[in-house]
Order: sequence, then structure tokens, then C-alpha cells
Amino acid sequence: MAEALNRTEREFLLNCGICGGRLTDPRILDCLHSFCKECLVIKQEQATKKDVVICELCGTHTCLFNDSIDSLTTNIFVMNIGRVEEITNSNCSFYCTFCEDQGDSEEASSRCLTCGDWLCLACARRHCGTTVTKRHKVVTLDDVRVDPQHRPELRKLYESKCISHDEKLRKFCSKCETPVCSECEHSDHKKHTVIPLEDVVEEVQDNLSNALEMYEVIEECDIEPDMQMAKRFQEVTNKEKTLLQIVHSARERLIQEIQQQATAAELAISQPFEAVKMLLSESMELEKKRSESTQKSRLFCEKLQQEGLKGESVHFRDLLQRVKKGDRKRAQLEFPPEINVNVNELSFPKLFSVSVSEPVSPVEIPRVRSPV
Ligand SMILES: [Zn+2]
Ligand SMILES: [Zn+2]
Ligand SMILES: [Zn+2]
Ligand SMILES: [Zn+2]
Ligand SMILES: [Zn+2]
Ligand SMILES: [Zn+2]
Repeated sequence: MAEALNRTEREFLLNCGICGGRLTDPRILDCLHSFCKECLVIKQEQATKKDVVICELCGTHTCLFNDSIDSLTTNIFVMNIGRVEEITNSNCSFYCTFCEDQGDSEEASSRCLTCGDWLCLACARRHCGTTVTKRHKVVTLDDVRVDPQHRPELRKLYESKCISHDEKLRKFCSKCETPVCSECEHSDHKKHTVIPLEDVVEEVQDNLSNALEMYEVIEECDIEPDMQMAKRFQEVTNKEKTLLQIVHSARERLIQEIQQQATAAELAISQPFEAVKMLLSESMELEKKRSESTQKSRLFCEKLQQEGLKGESVHFRDLLQRVKKGDRKRAQLEFPPEINVNVNELSFPKLFSVSVSEPVSPVEIPRVRSPV
């Protein structure tokens, strides 16, 4: 795996599912999920069953030997990957291996990709000049961080060596289920079946392929319910939208109906009232004219009586006699005609007969209907 991990891969592989932080001393369970040893110890102290550990992520039970978390396999793969990530993906400081041996703490600026030593500027110069190490490949940390091609070389540095003999682990002891060096093979594991590491690697690769196939099948099976759920979610969302649309258009319709009815009611009220008002104002006008005409006739009579010369008055002898008779005629004409209007009798129109014709139940979601 030469490619650097992306953010999700880093999180999934290198973070603990219990504390959420970077895995420290990671231990792997039967389900292939890893957790910090310390997190598992704390979890186990609180658990009632001591001989199994239950995965925090998937609930799988993993048996413990001697009720001990120590019996779980150390996940050296994520541990080593984590170390490389720490170098390439962070600004962590590392200290010069040589200076540290001398009791100094000088910050390392390079790393030897052959022997894995961290080197300060001075020690790097020396490392490249000394006969034993002058062919070693020394690169600066800045180079390592920007150039992904150094990643496989960095990974190689963490290839496990025998702790007892500092030799490469090239064989596998089938009895002890552990890789061994040639020294181990001829000492501790002398009577055990020891096979070349490659033979086991092949088997492991086959098992890995099978596991990958299985997980792919599981993931495919997960897609179906996921899609069903998404479909259901969409259905519910659509129904909600439709119902809200029904309510919305019902409200618009009711508002429109109320407005129409109000307009009709206004008309129903104002038409008869306007007609009556017209009649009344016409009568008032006539009444005013009649009153003025009476005043005029009276003024004429008054002035003629006061100031009329005899010769003038006699001119009207015949006319004034007729006025007396005309009084009765005038009474008959009697205008304006009386208008009999009782305000209380003007009817009030029937109003606002609106109703919601689309009842919406709040509990049961009705079948989708187009808004009316
Ligand atoms: Zn943890
Ligand atoms: Zn699990
Ligand atoms: Zn140094
Ligand atoms: Zn070196
Ligand atoms: Zn050994
Ligand atoms: Zn053995």
C-alpha cells in the first residue's frame, strides 16, 4: 500500500472506536475492529462477563484467554501505519538517535531510510561520511513529507525483526503460530514444524481475499435496505408536501370565497339603501323648492300689503281671489310624496357560507391527492 491514507481511511483505521482518539497499543477483536488496550481494559473492568469482550461497534463477542485483554492480538499493522502517518502527516518533532544516545535532545531533520536512524544536521553529515553507513539513503523530513514515493521505504523500516536476535523473521512456526528468525528456528523452535514465511503469506492472502469478498457481499446486501429506507423517507416527505399543498390551496380558496361573498353582501346591502337614499334626497330637494316658492309668494303679498299703492294693489284683485281658491288644489298636490321607509325593514343578506370541504386527518396519512 504505497498510497497515503485519505482522511476517512485514517479515521477508520487509526482511531479508537471507544475513546475516539488515535489508537494506542491497539488490540484487534475477532470482528477485525481495533481498540486501545487501555480502553478495552477499562471496558472490561465494568463488564459483568470477564471471559469475553463485546465489540463496541458491532457487538461481536471475542473470547479472552485468562480473562485478560493482553491475550488479544496486537494490531501491529495499524500501529506501523500510524507511525508512518505520524511522520508524513503531522508536524511532530523527532529527536536525533545519535544525540539522544549521548544524552542530548537535538531535533532530527533527516531520517536514514536504510537503518531507520533519526538524524540532526551534524549527525546526518557524519552518517553520510562514515564508511559503514555512507551508502545509506538519508532524506530530510521535509522531503519525506512532500514526496509520497518515500512512503514504501518508510513502511519497510517497520518490518518486524526478531526481538531476541535482531534478525529478519523469515520463517513461521506452525505450532507456536508465530514468525521466527533462523536463530529461533534452531533454538526454541527446534522440535516444531517451521515453514517458510511465504507459504503462510499465501494462505493469509487467500483468506484476506475471501474476507474481502464476504464484506463486499454484506455491503451489497446493506444497499437494498438503505435504498428502501431512502424511498420510504422520500414517500413520507412527498405526502407531507402534498397535504400542506392541500391546506394551502384550501386556504387560498376560502379566502377567495369569503372575498366574493363579502363583495356580494356589500352589493346586496348598498343597492336598496342607495335607492332609498336617492328617493330621500330627491324629496328633500323638492321640499326645499316648495318652501322657497312659498316664501316668494308670501314675500310678494307682504310687500304689496305694506308698500303697494292703491292703483297697484287693485291690479291683483282677480289673482288674489283665485289664490284663495287654489289653496285646496295646492293641498291636493302636496309634494313631495311621503316616503314610507322603515330602516329596520331593509334586509340583511345571508353571509359567508364557506366551509372546508377537504377534511385532513392529523393521524392517518391519506392517499396522495391532487390539490383541489
Ligand atoms: Zn481508545
Ligand atoms: Zn466489531
Ligand atoms: Zn545528532
Ligand atoms: Zn543509516
Ligand atoms: Zn530470533
Ligand atoms: Zn515454535
